[in-house]
Amino acid sequence: MREFTYRRAVDTAGAVALLDADPGARFLGGGTNLVDLMKAGVERPERLVDIRGLPLDGIEPTDDGGLRIGATATNSDVAAHPEVRRRYPALTQAVLAGASGQLRNMATVGGNLLQRTRCGYFTDLSRPCNKREPGSGCPAIAGEHRNHAILGASEHCVAVHPSDMGVALTAFDAVVTYETADGPGELALADFYLPVGGTPHQETALPPGALITGVTLPPAPVGALSRYRKVRERASYAFAIGSVAAALDVRDGVVRDVRLAYGAVASRPWRARAAEEVLRGAPADAGSFAAAADAELAAARPLAHNGYKVTLLRNLTVAVLSELAEPTELAQEGAVR
Ligand SMILES: Cc1cc2nc3c(=O)[nH]c(=O)nc-3n(C[C@H](O)[C@H](O)[C@H](O)COP(=O)(O)OP(=O)(O)OC[C@H]3O[C@@H](n4cnc5c(N)ncnc54)[C@H](O)[C@@H]3O)c2cc1C
Ligand code: SF4
Repeated sequence: MREFTYRRAVDTAGAVALLDADPGARFLGGGTNLVDLMKAGVERPERLVDIRGLPLDGIEPTDDGGLRIGATATNSDVAAHPEVRRRYPALTQAVLAGASGQLRNMATVGGNLLQRTRCGYFTDLSRPCNKREPGSGCPAIAGEHRNHAILGASEHCVAVHPSDMGVALTAFDAVVTYETADGPGELALADFYLPVGGTPHQETALPPGALITGVTLPPAPVGALSRYRKVRERASYAFAIGSVAAALDVRDGVVRDVRLAYGAVASRPWRARAAEEVLRGAPADAGSFAAAADAELAAARPLAHNGYKVTLLRNLTVAVLSELAEPTELAQEGAVR
């Protein structure tokens, strides 16, 4: 591992100034992804600016009935917060579906959104990878890609974003706030991740050196129940091979409002807007849910070995929306576990 220096930031302005003065520096959240990548030689920062001591770990209601979650709040604190559990149960479920208790105690909200892909070639320095080394090629397309993208990929990169939290935040229209040396800014999560195109190494629209300060959730859709379901290859401590975050508001058997996002299918959490459009005003039944999934997945372009994800996502969409449409007592109790 290459030598680096370490500074602990004491205030937001100081943290931003340290990175502004040193383009070779990186912010350190919980370190659960960055330090692993440093050990692998994928990330090689000259300086780490530790932001865990910044006063950015609060979780508070906003005046308009939404919720503000600080960037250094740990994944565990987000999942356990009573207002998150009450108003955005899918967010609690998504966070608890990720990693392990120890990791969630360390990992932060900002770090979770900026974690890098788990594509095996990305961390294997003996292989080319356009994301790690622009222009070197993408061996995953002809190689190992069982857990790679079916939506929104390009011939330059087919990796998926691994975050569970980000999928629920995308369904809830979260807005990311940040601070730079030129002042504050914000990005809707829908605009936060860049399309892959020919530049898979450029992952977000954050300005260089920006410090994420938090995410803001707008008020939850009235009467909406929400749920996160994750499919993985073993029951815990594994990344998703497909996931769905959904919120549904049904009146008199008709879908009044819906939010739907998919995980582990694209380079970013995937908002299923085509499916939402089909659902608004449709009967809240399995036929509509399947038609909605089909509308979204019509754009899927699976590779040789990941076509199973199309079926998986279709079935998952129908299952999660059916649960939300007819919440049994058991499903209600299980909304937050
Ligand atoms: C074994 C294992 C299993 C895992 N399983 C899952 C899983 O199932 N689901 C899931 O979603 N995740 C999973 N994770 C990933 C884990 O959730 C992430 O590693 C974690 O969320 C990253 O947060 P962190 O605070 O540790 O980030 P760090 O590692 O500290 O940072 C990650 C990146 O974000 C940048 N950064 C951090 N905070 C900020 C900020 N405020 N502003 C700007 N830049 C910032 C850093 O510079 C770095 O580039 C797993 C990780 C491991 C090691
Ligand atoms: S899919 Fe993306 S991350 Fe994986 S090898 Fe190809 S370019 Fe690299």
